[in-house]
Amino acid sequence: MDRGVVAVELGRLEVVELELDEPAEHEVLVRIEATGVCHSDLHVLETGFNHPLPVLLGHEGAGVVEAVGDAVAAVAVGDHVVLGWRSPCGECRWCERGDAHLCRTPATAGPRMRVRGGADVSRALGLGTFATRTVAHERAAIAVDDLPPEQACLLGCAVATGVCSVLRTASVYPGARVGVIGCGAVGLCVIQGARIAGAAEVHALDLDQRKLETARRFGATHTGEASRLDFVFDVVGRPETVEQGLGMLGHAGTLVYIGLPQPDARVELSLARLFDRRVRFLVSHGGDHVPARDIPVLAEHAREGRLDLAGMVTKTIALDEVEQAFAEMKAGDVIRSVVVL
Ligand SMILES: [Zn+2]
Ligand SMILES: [Zn+2]
Repeated sequence: MDRGVVAVELGRLEVVELELDEPAEHEVLVRIEATGVCHSDLHVLETGFNHPLPVLLGHEGAGVVEAVGDAVAAVAVGDHVVLGWRSPCGECRWCERGDAHLCRTPATAGPRMRVRGGADVSRALGLGTFATRTVAHERAAIAVDDLPPEQACLLGCAVATGVCSVLRTASVYPGARVGVIGCGAVGLCVIQGARIAGAAEVHALDLDQRKLETARRFGATHTGEASRLDFVFDVVGRPETVEQGLGMLGHAGTLVYIGLPQPDARVELSLARLFDRRVRFLVSHGGDHVPARDIPVLAEHAREGRLDLAGMVTKTIALDEVEQAFAEMKAGDVIRSVVVL
């Protein structure tokens, strides 16, 4: 019997038995091998995040294709895959004009899963990976070989978001001076991306001293407040971090806004200062990554030692331990807990 971690109401999760349908046209059935516990899952649990309840949590998963529906061409039974929640639909005006990274309607499978004998479940970010198996759109299943699943799964969210915010959203150039506010899993991936981009300086900021020490291990060259930076990545997403980030920028600097905002959050901006400094403000949704394009590139960075995935996995846990993992994530005790199935 399939099992999964489902938010049955806001703030309350249960591990439940699930029923799955066979994958339909362009869909694949994936047996999940590993799935990381991400802040966005907690956001879905606490706020719903536009998902109908009950919702199967989890969106950072890796596994093996167990069955394919009609007309599936991209992957075959037995392929090891990483699931990508930003997989473009291929049909909207953004996709048609060649800007698939701006697609707002990612390709997802139909409603193929339900609580045993009960209600259909929606799936967090269209995926639902805190489960023994899930059904995904074939566009969301990206073949990745030769990486341990507990590392490969991280490519699907934290790594793609952090590294691609640097390489895709911001196009950080060699020699740039970079700041990162918030050194959780995504912040550490921003630091790793900055290193890959050839940044001259990487300044890490976090209120938690332990995270600053970790940041140095992942390539931060400095810790604490800085000035005249070329790029600041705000991974926290609060009004005070946006203001702090803008204050650290130099001439023609770029603030890259990554963190999920609270609905009522506001900032006050000095237009004169924006104008004088020629500041750019970029919003990153998942680092603008396009899974089919970027996940294989990230996997190659990992295989060749440019990207440390093993160091990001603080602990591996069972499906029944997700609630505990959320508490540890909130407390800042872990970089990533990864459910291994
Ligand atoms: Zn689209
Ligand atoms: Zn995530």
